[in-house]
Amino acid sequence: MLRRALLGIAASERIRELVIATPATRAVVDRYVAGDSIGDAVRVARSLRTAGLLVSLDYLGEDTTDVARAAATVDQYVQLLGKLAAEGLTEGGAVEVSVKPTAVGLLLGPDGERVATDHIGQIAVAARDAGTTVTLDAEDHRTTDAALRIASALRPEFPFIGSVVQASLRRTESDARELAAPGVRVRLCKGAYAEPVSEAFTTRHDVDKSYARCLRILMSGPGYPMIATHDPRLIAITQSLALNRSPDTVEYQMLYGIRPEEQRRLAAAGARVRVYVPYGSDWYAYLVRRLAERPANLTFFLRSLGSMS
Ligand SMILES: Cc1cc2nc3c(=O)[nH]c(=O)nc-3n(C[C@H](O)[C@H](O)[C@H](O)COP(=O)(O)OP(=O)(O)OC[C@H]3O[C@@H](n4cnc5c(N)ncnc54)[C@H](O)[C@@H]3O)c2cc1C
Repeated sequence: MLRRALLGIAASERIRELVIATPATRAVVDRYVAGDSIGDAVRVARSLRTAGLLVSLDYLGEDTTDVARAAATVDQYVQLLGKLAAEGLTEGGAVEVSVKPTAVGLLLGPDGERVATDHIGQIAVAARDAGTTVTLDAEDHRTTDAALRIASALRPEFPFIGSVVQASLRRTESDARELAAPGVRVRLCKGAYAEPVSEAFTTRHDVDKSYARCLRILMSGPGYPMIATHDPRLIAITQSLALNRSPDTVEYQMLYGIRPEEQRRLAAAGARVRVYVPYGSDWYAYLVRRLAERPANLTFFLRSLGSMS
C-alpha cells in the first residue's frame, strides 16, 4: 500500500522538482546509478567484471513521447555497445544491455509498436556485432503484451533477445509457461510498478508465492532463466532448483548498489551473477521505484526533503 501511494505521489511535477533540487538526493542517486555518461557506465562495468560479475547496462529514460528522443536513445545504445566491444567487455555476453520499450518509441501513438520494434532491431544489430545480448525490460502492465510481441517478432533474427516477466502480475504464470522454450532468455522479477488490483497481486505474500511458482516453471524448462531478486528466500529456492541444471544455464541478477556482498558471494560460489547497472541523467523514475520498495531508504529521504521546506 505504502509503495503504491509513494509511486502515485512521485508522479507529481512539484514533488519531482523538489526531489531533484534536494542536495541529499545526489548521494542516493550515486548509490543506484553508475553516473551520467557512457564513460561512467563503462568504468563501472569494467570494475564489476574485474570482480567476476556479469553486467546489464540500462540507459535511463522511459515513457518517451518524442520521436527524436527515442532515436537519440537508440544512438546512445549503439555507441555504448561499440565502446564496450572495443574494450573487450562484451565477449561471451559478459556485458549486455537492457532496453525499455517505452524509451525507444512504444508510446509514440498508433505507430509506436512498429517504431519501437525497428529501434530495438537496430540495437540488436549493434549487440550482435559486439557479440552480446539485449534484454527488454518490463514496464507497467499496459505495455506487457507489446513488449512480449516485440521480443517474439525479433527473436527469429536475434535469438538472444531476452524478455522480462513480473511475478506481481496475475498473467505472468501463463507468460512464463509460454516463454520457457529452448534457449529463450527470461528474466523473472517481482515487478516495480503500481498496478491495478484487476491485474496484479496486492500483498507481498501473494507476489512472493507467484514468484516461486514462476521460478519453478522457468527453472524446470529448457530456456535460460535469469532470476532477478535480492530476496534471500527466493535466492535459496533458486539455489536448490539450480542443482538440477548445469550452472551455465541460469543466472542470478541484482541491481547495482543493492546487496553487493551477496552478489560477490554467489559469484565466488561459482554462480553466474549479473548486475543491472543504470546510467544517464534521467534517473528520477528509477530512483523513485528504488525508494518505494525500501521503507528505510524512504524515511531517510523524506527527512532530507523536510529539512528543505
Ligand atoms: C536485475 C534486475 C532487473 C529488474 N528489472 C525489472 C524490470 O524490467 N521491470 C520491473 O518491473 N522490475 C524490475 N526489477 C525490479 C524488481 O521488480 C523489484 O522491484 C526489485 O528487485 C525489488 O524486489 P526484490 O525481488 O529484490 O524483493 P524485495 O522483497 O523488494 O527485497 C528483498 C530484499 O532486498 C533488499 N532490497 C530490495 N530493494 C532494495 C532497495 N531498493 N534498496 C536496498 N535494499 C533493497 C532488501 O534487503 C530487501 O529485504 C528488476 C530487479 C532486478 C534485480
